[in-house]
Amino acid sequence: MHNVVIVGSGCAGLTAAIYAARANLKPLVIDGYEQGGQLSLTTHVENFPGFPDGIMGPELIENMRKQAQRFGAEFKAGAVSEVDLSRRPFKITVGKDTYETRSLIVAAGASARLLGLPGERELIGRGLSTCATCDGYFFRGKPIAVVGGGDSAMEEANFLTRYASKVYLIHRRREFRASKIMIDRARANEKIEFVTPYVVQTIHAPQGHVDAASVRNVESGEIRDLTVDGVFVAIGHDPNSTVFKGKLEMDSNGYLIAKHGSLTSVPGVFIAGDVQDHRYRQAVTAAGSGCMAALDAEKFLEEHIG
Ligand code: NAP
Repeated sequence: MHNVVIVGSGCAGLTAAIYAARANLKPLVIDGYEQGGQLSLTTHVENFPGFPDGIMGPELIENMRKQAQRFGAEFKAGAVSEVDLSRRPFKITVGKDTYETRSLIVAAGASARLLGLPGERELIGRGLSTCATCDGYFFRGKPIAVVGGGDSAMEEANFLTRYASKVYLIHRRREFRASKIMIDRARANEKIEFVTPYVVQTIHAPQGHVDAASVRNVESGEIRDLTVDGVFVAIGHDPNSTVFKGKLEMDSNGYLIAKHGSLTSVPGVFIAGDVQDHRYRQAVTAAGSGCMAALDAEKFLEEHIG
């Protein structure tokens, strides 16, 4: 029997684990599909307070994990396949194992969106990627495309110019959602060509590996064929909340809804990080909400279990 199980090992889950472990609750953290969450898939983090020169995302998340371990947090690899929140103790199933817990913190994060083109999923690892830091290296000296108009797209486009001979930045509007500093950086990079307002119509992979993309101008309908060896999709994320459908309140996009702070309508279940936040989605806000969830879980355990 656990005091607290934390679903998710990103910034929110690990911060919750640090707080819960320091409160002597011996939290069990379920890693999820992507150990370390989105920070482990990013490059330089320049806006996490306390790092004036920035820090690499994977290093930041590894530090948080060590910090949680130091105070006694335990980790379990794998993703949650089933939950029973109908009565306490709650039951959490990961593979063949089922855990019982007095309280639960859901910090399952969000995962990268795809474009929805036919056959797109099969091209992952064959020229299509949602993670520049993971796959950029494979495109040394080759032309590639990045799709999206947010900070992720700008960051990935800039990062990929380290490897690629050219980067087409394809965005469906002329305006960008990204912050000005990120847009300016991309515009100043000679290797990046902005292709707006275009959408990807087809990704070509006649030999089983991406070798071109056809893009369509959404205003004129004109089609352009781009010779690219890779397409990096950076169009945002969806919350990893499927397993909680019908069990926790969520909005039409699947984001979990808090009643107050990290509290849900199920007493003893708390939520934190991107699985419940489509507005801020920052490492520091995820960490802050992880802290809130752990403090709320601690208070709940004190009041209900003593
Ligand atoms: P985002 O801000 O939601 O941007 C997603 C982009 O993809 C938008 O430009 C959107 O176009 C486009 N898009 C969405 N669906 C599409 C589709 N089906 N086809 C084509 N384009 C599509 O997501 P994000 O860039 O991943 O950023 C998420 C959050 O993380 C933001 O808060 C961001 O500030 C933060 N972030 C910060 C940094 C940093 O500061 N270093 C780095 C990365 C991310 P529209 O604009 O037309 O909707």
